[in-house]
Amino acid sequence: MKVYFIGAGPGDPELITVKGKRVIESCGYCIYAGSLVNKEILNYCRKDTKIYDSASMALEEIITVMEEAKEKNIDVARLHTGDPSIYGAIQEQMLELDKRDIDYEVIPGVSSFLAAAAALKQELTLPGVSQTIIITRIEGRTPVPETEKLETLSKTKATLCIFLSVKEIKRVTDILKPAYGNDCPVAIVYKASWKDEKIITSDLGNVVDATIQNGIKRTAIIIVGNVLSRNFEYSKLYDKHFKHSHRN
Ligand code: SAH
Repeated sequence: MKVYFIGAGPGDPELITVKGKRVIESCGYCIYAGSLVNKEILNYCRKDTKIYDSASMALEEIITVMEEAKEKNIDVARLHTGDPSIYGAIQEQMLELDKRDIDYEVIPGVSSFLAAAAALKQELTLPGVSQTIIITRIEGRTPVPETEKLETLSKTKATLCIFLSVKEIKRVTDILKPAYGNDCPVAIVYKASWKDEKIITSDLGNVVDATIQNGIKRTAIIIVGNVLSRNFEYSKLYDKHFKHSHRN
């Protein structure tokens, strides 16, 4: 018996790994994060699979279901949105499973920031512009360590992928403007890869109004950085003077 933490991907039910899908098909229990995982993914479950929505469950209840599965020797598919390692709250689940000697495995998934980049048809690491991607969020109920405050990160001028923060878009842009400048391009991708996906492309000076006008308050990634202006040097990778073997 095993618990499988599976990255369900950003929304599109085809954006799950082959392995993730195969494991869902084989599990007798499925616990999915109902607020963000696309319910169409549940179609991969067997007809007799017991399905739980973790949106209304406390950690203890989730663990109790996993313990019950262990008693019955039934595998559990634990579905998290995007990739489970990013704001997935999986560590505490794994710790509780360790205490109970329940075996588990993590199967990665396509994170929503990658689906957002795909929706924008955008490379996030353009030569001569930025070679660094920062995944972060603004402080909410979960505190952000002092050394990782958006003010501090903004000094890098790296490409920022900001999760869980679109409701605070004004605060985000106010913090970023001094370092990135009013003209720095910003993209907001709402429900990347879902049928009702929405994309806003703007700049730090104007994105707040655009976001409010479009009624976007949740389930969006904010991407900030000059990569979005697509003013860059061509990569050395396909340069005819560059040997591919040098890339590692
Ligand atoms: N583990 C997830 C993130 C979970 S935190 C991942 O790897 O994507 C939840 C936040 O993820 C949301 O507030 C939003 O910022 C982002 N998010 C999740 N799904 C999204 C989607 N389809 N499009 C845009 N943002 C999404």
